[in-house]
Amino acid sequence: MCRHLGWLGADVSVSSLILDPPFGLRVQSYSPRRQKHGLMNADGWGVGFFDDGVPRRWRSTAPLWGDTSLESVAPALRSGCVVAAVRSATVGMPHDVSATAPFTDGRWLLSHNGVVDRSVLPLTATAESVCDSAMLAATVFSLGLEVLGETIAQIGALDPDARLNILAANGSRMLATAWGDTLSILRRDDGVVLASEPYDDASGWEDVPDHHLVEVTAQGVTMTPLDEPKGF
Ligand code: GLN
Repeated sequence: MCRHLGWLGADVSVSSLILDPPFGLRVQSYSPRRQKHGLMNADGWGVGFFDDGVPRRWRSTAPLWGDTSLESVAPALRSGCVVAAVRSATVGMPHDVSATAPFTDGRWLLSHNGVVDRSVLPLTATAESVCDSAMLAATVFSLGLEVLGETIAQIGALDPDARLNILAANGSRMLATAWGDTLSILRRDDGVVLASEPYDDASGWEDVPDHHLVEVTAQGVTMTPLDEPKGF
């Protein structure tokens, strides 16, 4: 189970979101506090952010905790919409940058915490990698983010062992699902954080209940239960 974090709000630095907090993604890369599957997230990291509406990505297969280049540059990377992740590769999945979140279709950035049986995914031709998360991202992009909740519930019905925590953003909207693993939300004065686990012990973090969809826009936050559907 990897860990991910999303931000939608005012322009802030990437370092303030993932490197500086006492239990941010850098610490979660070696010592996550709420991770239920896997011990640490040493198999790489990815930072995606929107720059004048354009999604840009920086990904690596090295552990986040030792990346001095990111540490140097992250204070200068500022954005109002960020999707970042640290990876604990599922057994049997490739260990290369193309298997590392965030994935993109050119408009959205998307990260997946979890595991899914690739044989239940209906559309995989455009996946960046054969990694389950990349194939799931391609499926979500193909079906459209408007039906993210329905897609996740359908895949969850087809693969009852799947864990399907998705985090996606397009610069003005941020969507996330809690399906089998932890997800927390922090409403700050300057924006909203969605994260696999809180990056500090400040008050204000709320746990998102399992099997829920969260949507964040400038208008606010909505949380919707995800019902199991009958199938595709
Ligand atoms: N299954 C994905 C991978 O192999 C994500 C793993 C995870 O969430 N730890 O990268």
